[in-house]
Amino acid sequence: MSTSEPVLNYASARHDDTRPATKIVATIGPASEDRVIALIDAGMAVARINFSHGVDDDHRRRVEKVRTAARLKGQPVGVLADIQGPKLRLGQIAGGQARLEAGQELRLVEAAKSTDPGVIPLNFTGFRDTVKPQHRVLLADAAVELVIVGVDGEFLVARVQRGGVIADRKGVHFPDSLLTAELPTQQDRKHIALAQELGIDFLGVSFVSRAADLERIRDLAPSMMLVAKIERRTALDDLRGILEATDGVMVARGDLGVEVNLEHLPLVQKHLIAESVKAGKFVITATEMLESMVHASRPTRAEVTDVANAVLDGTDAVMLSAETAVGEHPVEAVRAMARIARAVETSPRYQELSRVPFRQNEPTFSNATALAAAHAAEALKIKKIICFTETGNTVRLLSRYRIAGDIIALTPSERTLHAMTILSHVRPLLCARETSLEDMLHEAQTVLVQSGMCAHGEEVIFVAGVPPGVARSTNVMKLHRIGEQTRFQ
Ligand code: ATP
Ligand code: MG
Ligand code: MG
Repeated sequence: MSTSEPVLNYASARHDDTRPATKIVATIGPASEDRVIALIDAGMAVARINFSHGVDDDHRRRVEKVRTAARLKGQPVGVLADIQGPKLRLGQIAGGQARLEAGQELRLVEAAKSTDPGVIPLNFTGFRDTVKPQHRVLLADAAVELVIVGVDGEFLVARVQRGGVIADRKGVHFPDSLLTAELPTQQDRKHIALAQELGIDFLGVSFVSRAADLERIRDLAPSMMLVAKIERRTALDDLRGILEATDGVMVARGDLGVEVNLEHLPLVQKHLIAESVKAGKFVITATEMLESMVHASRPTRAEVTDVANAVLDGTDAVMLSAETAVGEHPVEAVRAMARIARAVETSPRYQELSRVPFRQNEPTFSNATALAAAHAAEALKIKKIICFTETGNTVRLLSRYRIAGDIIALTPSERTLHAMTILSHVRPLLCARETSLEDMLHEAQTVLVQSGMCAHGEEVIFVAGVPPGVARSTNVMKLHRIGEQTRFQ
């Protein structure tokens, strides 16, 4: 996709004060692909397409629908595609869904599909020789637990230890067996090529174990922002390396909750968020945030508290999976999330959260300018920092400092525009490419007043680089009153 021709009409963008500073990622699936405009209106900043579910044509169609809706609304929306990685899954089970009762005996087989309720198809090979009697099998994010009792020809015989509901394509874990697979898989390679072709902004990399996994993916997906999904215990051991190799992380609580004991999840989440922010990387908190809304029209008190706590932890984004992909109330789920985030963000407790200290490891003009702007905003109680950016780098730094107001990020690059949609507090906006600082300030004021983002006479802080158009050249901070003339010579 060309990055020089703006397809978003920035003049038609309207500022909407009800959009939370914390970003909402919503998974697009059968329940939501025809309601993308409503999802954007409700507060979705990034649309997620899980390449594990559906076929290439579904992914293509969904990406197209998101791009079209975003253009129509004049609202930048990022697209995140998840590759499945070496995830083990059920095939198609008899009836699509089944309740397994404790004590029941089942037979597991390598197959894409089964029509016999007593036979559970597994969508992968090589387990028959590795899995031994007494080994556990966890199904559907550990909702169901089986234990292997024997082998019968091509079948593994298992008994249900803890009953529950399973459905087609749910995840399978063998916590006691050594089943290894490479990342990326053959299928991942195909999906990465598709993501490249579709101009996807963020690539969610499942089951990252170490930094080297990401380096391999980076070579295949040079134009995408990488999101390391943290869902392996081993990933926690190499977190520092992973943070260096990635652009952002996802606290993938579904599979992570199977790998570590559930009661450790809250602290692992806080640790991952704090470390990501410190490392200057964005972080998404995911899975079961409003799970009951798959069926219910309102969230539970515990879910509301979970979303609020993730915002207080300092996450950049909160995510909806099944709630919007296959749920009964996708738009209401996004709306509920936006309301919860806003309620926290406008509270004194959130405003008083400690700010991230100066990033020592980045002694650059960009970082020093970003910090100066953040401090000036705090000292003067200015609620808007307006940042011109070519690569988004300065905006990423500014976002880390978690100022009390908005960071309005103006860029002439559509790719940068989309890459900034995930960042907390950042309002990305497309602008024309200007050749002097005077022209940049003049053009920005016109756009900001037109879109309702700034009022005449309002005090703001401009952050820019001169000469314009050069990447990584941020070196100017200007305190400014909207509407005032600026001449530098
Ligand atoms: P991951 O490990 O990547 O999260 P997942 O299978 O858990 O994979 P999610 O994207 O978390 O998938 O979605 C939650 C559930 O929504 C899935 O388990 C699946 O049952 C259901 N679902 C059905 N169709 C889709 C779809 N097109 N996209 C996403 N989820 C879907
Ligand atoms: Mg999941
Ligand atoms: Mg997962």
